Amino acid sequence: MKKSIYGLTRDQLIEWLLEHGQKKYRAEQVWDWLYIKRVQSFDDMKNVSKECLDILKENFVIQTLKESVKQESADGTIKFLFEMQDGNLIETVLMRFKYGLSVCVTTQVGCNIGCSFCASGLLKKNRDLDAGEIVGQIMKVQEHLDQLQQDERVSHIVVMGIGEPFDNYTNLMSFLRTVNDQKGLAIGARHITVSTSGLAKKIIDFANENIQVNLAVSLHAPNDELRTKIMVINKAFPIEKVMDAVDYYLEKTNRRITFEYILLKDVNDHVEEAQQLAKLLENKRHLSYVNLIPYNPVDEHGQYQRSSEKSISAFFQTLKNKGINCGVRMEQGTDIDAACGQLRSKQIKKEKVKN
Ligand code: SAH
Ligand code: SF4
Repeated sequence: MKKSIYGLTRDQLIEWLLEHGQKKYRAEQVWDWLYIKRVQSFDDMKNVSKECLDILKENFVIQTLKESVKQESADGTIKFLFEMQDGNLIETVLMRFKYGLSVCVTTQVGCNIGCSFCASGLLKKNRDLDAGEIVGQIMKVQEHLDQLQQDERVSHIVVMGIGEPFDNYTNLMSFLRTVNDQKGLAIGARHITVSTSGLAKKIIDFANENIQVNLAVSLHAPNDELRTKIMVINKAFPIEKVMDAVDYYLEKTNRRITFEYILLKDVNDHVEEAQQLAKLLENKRHLSYVNLIPYNPVDEHGQYQRSSEKSISAFFQTLKNKGINCGVRMEQGTDIDAACGQLRSKQIKKEKVKN
């Protein structure tokens, strides 16, 4: 099966075309057709020679994703379910905020990290997405926007869909370089956030990349005992290791880091845990932000419920009083299963019933 040309960064496209006997300016033209004019067929690349188009067509397709379901919520959130060439389904969410249009992308089919509260972890990882399939999600959403003819652009990206991005590191980096490219989509690095469950070694690699993309770490508990209970990955990368990597990242980049903390009723939402969390972050208060996430209930994880409003605000206030920057994540699209992995897992269940 031919892969998507979206999988090549601009440098890789230049190199590939040079290797195939083409001039560098051809690559610049092709890049422009792909990301500025956003054509869907090689034949529409009007100023590119037939010879060049022929070798491109022999080796690549433009888009490999097909829209399978599109659900629009009352608040403007749109959830897309895309079918890949091998039939696997992935989900992508477009959210409308005051500051712009943000897309949540998927990096893997399923996830092997297996956090106990997450719908994605229910389905073991089937495979990594290649870079073209990750970029393809942004291009599909942009295509949807282009069709509306309201001159809207995807302005922000969160890598928070299905999968652990740092478990698919090379493709992730390639994706980031492509969407950030100044001659293409030019989505600002500061407008992109990658979320990880805390793969410490990769946090260090990421710090060394020299890219201004934001990092979010899913912490969810302030001590190892509790964190191991809800995230088994904590056995491999306990809090101390994650924090060492975070310190390295902060020192190297001087960029603020976000800590995500899902509030699970009576599990990790007591004032005591808020105090422990404040203590843990004490020495990096100036460069950290805690994102408190009200839990989105998942049918299969009936042991967890969302914390009460009262606990959420007590937790928030405790952090605030200790001088920790924090906020409670606003919800989007709950009426359309917009939480991580939920539409996909429901769709797969429906299909199983059908078959
Ligand atoms: N694998 C990465 C990124 C994808 S998950 C990670 O874990 O960070 C993105 C965020 O959604 C994570 O913070 C994750 O813990 C959170 N999440 C997963 N399931 C959720 C649910 N049911 N309700 C609320 N947040 C959830
Ligand atoms: Fe994977 Fe993230 Fe879900 Fe954990 S929360 S299972 S790491 S997608």
